[in-house]
Amino acid sequence: MTGQFDDRVSADTWSEPPRDLPVIGRPDVLVVGAGAAGVAAALAAARRGADTWLIERLGHIGGLAGFGLINLLLTLDDGEGTQVVSGLCQEFVDALSVRGAARHPRPDEWGSEDPDRVEYWRQWGLIWGRPPENVRYSVAFEPESFVDVGYDLMRGAGVHLCLHRWCTATHGSGGHIEAVVTESKAGREAILPSVVIDTTGDGDVFHYAGAESDLVTVYPFQWFRMGGVSGLGEYGMDGGVYFRTTDPGRVLVPWGGPGAVDFRIDPTDPDDLARAEIECRRGVRAEVTRLREEARGFGTAWLDDIARQLGITESRRLIGDLILEKSDGNRVFPDSVARTGHWTRRGVVYDIPYRCLTTPLVSNLLTAGRCISTSRYVHQATKEIPAAMATGEAAGAAAVAALNHGGLVHRVDVRELRRDLTASGAMVGEGEGLPGPDLRPKPDRGPGG
Ligand SMILES: Cc1cc2nc3c(=O)[nH]c(=O)nc-3n(C[C@H](O)[C@H](O)[C@H](O)COP(=O)(O)OP(=O)(O)OC[C@H]3O[C@@H](n4cnc5c(N)ncnc54)[C@H](O)[C@@H]3O)c2cc1C
Repeated sequence: MTGQFDDRVSADTWSEPPRDLPVIGRPDVLVVGAGAAGVAAALAAARRGADTWLIERLGHIGGLAGFGLINLLLTLDDGEGTQVVSGLCQEFVDALSVRGAARHPRPDEWGSEDPDRVEYWRQWGLIWGRPPENVRYSVAFEPESFVDVGYDLMRGAGVHLCLHRWCTATHGSGGHIEAVVTESKAGREAILPSVVIDTTGDGDVFHYAGAESDLVTVYPFQWFRMGGVSGLGEYGMDGGVYFRTTDPGRVLVPWGGPGAVDFRIDPTDPDDLARAEIECRRGVRAEVTRLREEARGFGTAWLDDIARQLGITESRRLIGDLILEKSDGNRVFPDSVARTGHWTRRGVVYDIPYRCLTTPLVSNLLTAGRCISTSRYVHQATKEIPAAMATGEAAGAAAVAALNHGGLVHRVDVRELRRDLTASGAMVGEGEGLPGPDLRPKPDRGPGG
């Protein structure tokens, strides 16, 4: 059979006809991905006066921290009782607390090794790592309220939120992104931003724009919640691993990963993701049945909800201007713009240099959240929600600073950025002055899309 499109067909490809896309906006700052990092980035940019757009493929914000049901902020401290993450993350904690939707140890408990207090907070999912354990400044929260707080704050800041839009491509030249392409029920559309922030978790934008990255396969997780559990707090975790939540009789079950799942997936492969969705759901159902049969207090409990976003611990990580390494623990960087403790280790703090958010290959792109430039080891700390919010906040502020330089993120005065972040309540570490020289060879600039 022959047809008018025969010349577009080869063995493995079909050549899409070129077409003009409607331009739906020219924002100062475009944030792609509305998880914890993206919401923080958008808030930070909009509060500094930038016309800020936030696009999200799903019908809600929050990402893993929202209806991904990873509803534990681990951690805001250094493991020794001192807070190291504040800023927008602390603002969320305060707003959640006002709604009765957060639970965390009081400051006078942080660092305590009192076994009763450690055991109490373990039941809330806030104690991890090897003995000797102590009480951390970590927070259990309720996801619906997390999402609501995000909407409220973004409405107040004037963020233009576009839900149900996938970012599927970038176009540009000379290492500069000129257009970001989205797909939705409205078809393909273009947004022409000055600065782009990639908070997709999977690094979709930096991947499309030609930046280098590292990608690993992972065991998927799918956390879920059960209601109607009786006697919580009386039995400890008898018969399973589950955590108390702010709702009476409701628990959060951290299901999945090695042991529960016997296959790894590439989190950027839709076929792998589809398999994980189906297999994990089946596994969750089996675990619900087991808990009802074996765990004390679960006899008449019911399944409340299953995470609407698969639990993906790692995906693409940017290979940026600097890769933060294990040996950088407790190191002072002159260009640190965020910091984080480690949820399983005490006394280790990673100051996160601005160079972990930038790539030498794209001039108007910043990255924040779980896909910033770190080693796999350090990613364990920087992927956590408080750290993701801290790097998101830093990226949002940096994007606005870059607007004075035609969107060029490498021209940002990092000393001024650190001052700006500190003035707004963020914790950026002790480093002084401008960034030191980056002695690593830089690859040639890529195409930017
Ligand atoms: C099993 C598991 C347990 C964890 N436990 C904890 C814990 O106890 N405490 C803790 O603090 N952290 C924990 N983490 C880590 C933490 O949940 C995440 O790393 C963090 O929430 C990441 O935030 P993010 O905003 O970077 O990414 P995400 O939350 O993944 O958000 C990315 C957003 O981008 C959107 N998106 C993706 N691609 C596109 C695209 N192309 N176009 C448009 N939108 C797009 C997604 O829909 C999503 O909303 C855990 C993670 C997992 C998987």
